[in-house]
Formats: sequence, structure tokens, C-alpha cells
Amino acid sequence: MTEVAAGPGCSTDVEVLDSLVIGAGQAGLSASYHLRRRGLDHVVLDAEAAPGGAWQHRWDSLAMRDVHGVSALPDSVSPTDPEGRANVVVPAYFATYEREHDLPVVRPIRVDTVTEHNGLLLTRAADRTWTSRTLVNASGTWSHPFVPRYPGMDTFLGEQLHTHDYPGPLPFRGRRVLVVGGGASAVQHLGELAPVADTLWVTRREPVWRTDDFTPELGRRVVALVEERVRRGLPPASVVSVTGLALRPQEREAERLGAYRRLPMFESVEPDGVRWADGRFERVDVIVWATGFRPAVTHLAPLRLRSPSGGIQLDGTTAVADRRVQLVGYGPSASTIGANRAGRTAARGVADWISASAAGLPV
Ligand code: FAD
Repeated sequence: MTEVAAGPGCSTDVEVLDSLVIGAGQAGLSASYHLRRRGLDHVVLDAEAAPGGAWQHRWDSLAMRDVHGVSALPDSVSPTDPEGRANVVVPAYFATYEREHDLPVVRPIRVDTVTEHNGLLLTRAADRTWTSRTLVNASGTWSHPFVPRYPGMDTFLGEQLHTHDYPGPLPFRGRRVLVVGGGASAVQHLGELAPVADTLWVTRREPVWRTDDFTPELGRRVVALVEERVRRGLPPASVVSVTGLALRPQEREAERLGAYRRLPMFESVEPDGVRWADGRFERVDVIVWATGFRPAVTHLAPLRLRSPSGGIQLDGTTAVADRRVQLVGYGPSASTIGANRAGRTAARGVADWISASAAGLPV
């Protein structure tokens, strides 16, 4: 792994950056593009060894035709290669974008903490520190897979894995696989697994199937609902909990095989299967936890941004608890299209804060 120059704003320099962006996925790249357009000094610190954000870690069997669309980054055209692997096509697109727009991405740097000192923000990664007036957090969710706890989980003798580590369907051929979760990932996993394995599906709630098209109007309603939660400081809801689920042509075979007949959540896990409250037992070889992700924001803990309701309260993309901090790719902007727009809003928030503080106005 090549060590990169620490870049401006690092402790060896005297410079104080206008802003620092954490994460070079869709949200961080969009923010960086708009910061640059506004002439704001910044660096983007990214934990990955290569461009691509979380997309480089998506499972190999996920083709571009399987993803729900990757929105174009600002001033560019999104990739069109339906048969291409998402974990190759999108990272290549991001790499070209970083290069063509000469974005100041520094990697691999995993930020440990952000603290505040004398009115400035100090971002630390291992033994390095960057100093900035503002911060744009774009660290996504991929590094924080969420697995709920169920009694007996640790006694299971089969294989348990999360979507984060899903390798595609082939290793599960001929096995009995239980998929847990009511989101788009569960639907996609079942679509691939059912033709090669014996599958079961459990969800906490009855899934809501959408038969109509995903219209721009529905998209706006979804974003407004998640935005409202975040404005109140609640933890952001999953977008699917609001949009409902849809089957695509590549999932019709699984549907025909009955893979989408869902069972309610089991009560406990036993060494060779799962048991429901009414005594029903199903033997399974594998449990796939398609149970989502949580915002990767532990490095922001010292800034005490969380509201008593458990989420980070936002006004647009601005953290209400500290208006120097912008969050992009969080809550309503946790999609490629939302992340894009949030990058622009965040850059405006940074510019407003810097000009107001330079003019001595209350910020
Ligand atoms: P990411 O792409 O995750 O980028 C975050 C970056 O921050 C990463 O490079 C990470 O390494 C870095 N980082 C994290 N922590 C640190 C740290 N402490 N220090 C430094 N760097 C750090 N959206 C769609 O629009 N269409 C889809 O089809 C779609 N499919 C999805 C499928 C799955 C399984 C998942 C989980 C999400 C999907 N989404 C989809 C959502 C979408 O991927 C993201 O919301 C969107 O790409 C925005 O990405 P991001 O920039 O917020 O995060």
C-alpha cells in the first residue's frame, strides 16, 4: 500500500483549512467538487486504499443492472454498462472523476476522532492531525453493518454472515439458507439464492410490496419523510421502510420458486436452526443477516452531536449542535442522488459559516 503525502492542513503545515471532508464516496466527492468550485481550501481523507467508496466492496454478482441506479456526480455522466460488475464500474467512474476534477483526496487515511480546540476542528488519524474551520462528514454506513441480537446466536453451528460479507450465491449451492431482513438487500439475495439453494425468508414486519413505478414524486415523498425524522433528531429510518419493495425481472424466478413467502421473525437460534415462539423449528445451514447498516459516525463522538432522541439533528445538512459540521450521505441523503445534492448544500453551508464568522456575525 503506497503511503501518500499528508497534504495541506496536516500538523506539519501551519495552514488551517477552510474545510475537511471525511470519506470519498459519492457524498464526499460531490462535496469536494462544490467546495472547490467555491474556492474553499480542503482535503478529503478516505479510509480506502483505492477510489470507489463502499461500491468497491459490493458482492461480485451485483451487476450494474441490479443496482437501483447510480446517479451522476456533479458535472459528469453516470456509467452505463448494465452487464458490468458494480464493484468495478463504479470505482472506475469515481477514480476518473477524482482525477479529471483534480480533487484533493488523500488515502488511505482512517479518521479516528474529530475534536474541537480554540474554535477550530482537529481531525486525527493515527499520529497525524489536520486543522480546519469546518467539517463535512461523508463516511457512509458500509463500515457499520448492523446485526440484531437473538438468544442462542452464539451457539449456531452453521455459517452466519451479514450482507457486508455476502460473496454471491455460489458458495451456498445446495444448502438451506435463511435470509433475515425486509429490505432491498434481502430481496436481491433471495433473487440469487433461491435458484441454487433451499431458502427461507424472515422479516420483522410484513413487507410492503410496491407495484407502481418508483416515480420522482414517490422519491420526493420518501426523502421528505426521512428528512423530517432527521430534523427532529431521530435516528434516520431506512429508505425502504418508506418506499416499499419491488421485484425486478431478475427476481421473478425466485418469486416463482416461492422465495418471497415470508415468515415472521423467529424467537431464538439453536445449534442447527431457528425456533419460533409457537415451537416451530426450521433446520438451516446458513443465516444471512440482511439487516442493514448504521451511520459510521463514531469518530464524531467527541463533538457531542447526538440529540437526546438518539440521532444527529440536522438543519438541511448542518448539524444543529455544531453548525461548523455538515453531514452528507446521512439519513435523507443516503442514496447516490441524495448524496449528490447534499454535497452542494454542504458546500454552501461551509461557505456561509466561513463568511459569517469572518465578518464577526453570529453563526
Ligand atoms: P460510501 O460510498 O460508503 O463512502 C464513504 C467513504 O467514507 C468510504 O470510502 C469509507 O471508506 C470512508 N470512511 C468511512 N469512515 C471513515 C473514516 N473514519 N475515516 C476516513 N474515511 C472513512 N444507492 C443508490 O442510489 N442506488 C443503489 O443501487 C444503492 N444500492 C445500495 C446497496 C447497498 C448494499 C447499500 C449498503 C447501499 C446502497 N445504496 C444505493 C446507497 C448508496 O450506496 C449510498 O447512499 C451512496 O453511495 C452514498 O455513499 P456515501 O458517499 O455516503 O458512502
